[in-house]
Amino acid sequence: MTDHYAVIGNPVAHSKSPFIHAEFARQTGQDIAYGRILALLGGFNKAVEDFRAEGGNGLNVTLPFKLDAFELAQEVSARASDAGAVNVLKFEGATVFGDNTDGVGLLRDIKGNLHFGIDGRALLLMGAGGAAQGVLGPLLDARPARLVVANRTPERAERLVERFRALGRFGGIALSASSYAALAGQRFDLVINATSASLADTVPELPEGIFACGSLAYDMMYGTRTPFLTLASTQGAARVADGIGMLVEQAAESFLIWRGVRPETRPVIEALKAR
Ligand code: NAP
Repeated sequence: MTDHYAVIGNPVAHSKSPFIHAEFARQTGQDIAYGRILALLGGFNKAVEDFRAEGGNGLNVTLPFKLDAFELAQEVSARASDAGAVNVLKFEGATVFGDNTDGVGLLRDIKGNLHFGIDGRALLLMGAGGAAQGVLGPLLDARPARLVVANRTPERAERLVERFRALGRFGGIALSASSYAALAGQRFDLVINATSASLADTVPELPEGIFACGSLAYDMMYGTRTPFLTLASTQGAARVADGIGMLVEQAAESFLIWRGVRPETRPVIEALKAR
């Protein structure tokens, strides 16, 4: 019997997850169907319940619903609990299990695919929404020397930093929150754009000179040359990458959670780039 999965978000029409999971299913011989669900803002729980009532087995959750998914889940993994955000739901009988694969996906892409080391480096994480919440713990676990979270609404960055300081296991890492303007005069080896500004074809107002020699600029948005990546290139970033690798890596981890088998990511990343 075919098991049913989907990605739920708003907007969701642009999502490449149906293609990725179809490739994973073909590669591993798993019998699944994977669709898209556009949920109304404020209508997340209802859309999930409708999908479950129709026999759905699991969901990938994208913006802006990762915090709603965390609230909805009855059981969560340790990494989702740290993050306070969920991007994968698995329905097990009456139980809704939530996990967060954004962090492991980002780290696999940056370290494994792009061969960029984080240990001892200076990192800037832009944004404090669901995606930033999901990746902050795994980024800190990779032991940078310094990590600054900057956000348009700085209080939100401060709350995120406080949440992770309170976990108590990241001693020795200089972790702080900032506005964009207050970044002036600082330099970073890795700058990650986890804002949704690229969706609106804009970029947060970054001061000049933040990209260190040899730095990597990474935009979680994928599929286009974003304004952030263009700005990073003109301001001295040595390398730029969009989020296509992260997308495929986090999807592979979701597939593992649902199906118990890890698919190969390299051919799917290549196929998406070719498209
Ligand atoms: P979200 O929860 O809605 O958070 C949005 C974040 O972007 C907030 O920090 C918000 O700042 C900031 N922001 C929005 N518009 C802005 C603007 N014009 N200027 C400056 N900051 C702005 O969204 P999310 O779930 O975190 O997703 C963020 C992005 O990551 C999306 O583009 C998503 O597609 C991408 N993503 C990619 C992957 C992948 O696998 N490649 C995975 C996850 C997410 P305020 O707090 O001030 O509102």
